[in-house]
Amino acid sequence: MKKRLILLGPPGSGKGTLAAQLQSDFKLDHVSSGHLLRMEVEKYTRMGRYVQAFLDRGELVPDEFLLDFMAGWWNGLSADSKFMLDGFPRTLRQAEVLDLRLAERNAGIEAVLFLDCPVTLAIQRISGRRSCPKCGRVYHRSALLHPKAGQCEECVVDLIHRQDDEEEVVRKRYDIYVQETEPLIQYYRGQQKLTFIDGSSCAMETFAATKVALAK
Ligand code: ADP
Repeated sequence: MKKRLILLGPPGSGKGTLAAQLQSDFKLDHVSSGHLLRMEVEKYTRMGRYVQAFLDRGELVPDEFLLDFMAGWWNGLSADSKFMLDGFPRTLRQAEVLDLRLAERNAGIEAVLFLDCPVTLAIQRISGRRSCPKCGRVYHRSALLHPKAGQCEECVVDLIHRQDDEEEVVRKRYDIYVQETEPLIQYYRGQQKLTFIDGSSCAMETFAATKVALAK
């Protein structure tokens, strides 16, 4: 079973949902750069105020900043660490630095799951989603019809609609993904770590396909 993963794919391809399932079944640490950045914004630190503008506009935070920020995470890693990265790396430079830092800690990436999904489906999913401001878990509006609708099952706090989940911003995030992040598919294919997972099917099928891929 592979225990150090990257989840790669456009916004709305289901990375967060898949990560929640993998976390609960396989106890892999879910490391979401977007969630970590939003926590910083929430704390209203200087750093948080700096990144907020990028997040709101749906633009990437500059590489040098992001790499410094993520050092707080990789400094604590060892050869036994088990994790899945969601939203990081997003540029070639981030991927190269990540490889170096993980190699220094004998904690190299074992598999990269590439979840693909078309832009129309991504927009449909994201514009209907609500997120937990505390743990970052996402819920689709249509799944909110149960008795505790509107609250996170784990944290019991009210769900929110993220500002960068508005349709116009989602389109921009998708374009940036195509430009900046898609080249990583070739990068990891070159390392023979890439596995394609259909991100347009339902969450259960995606999870089943992922389990098969990780067992190989
Ligand atoms: P999603 O996966 O739904 O697109 P995320 O929660 O991963 O959204 O990211 C939200 C925002 O956080 C991004 O639009 C970007 O502004 C910032 N961000 C997250 N990860 C990175 C990263 N690796 N590099 C640069 N910016 C990032």
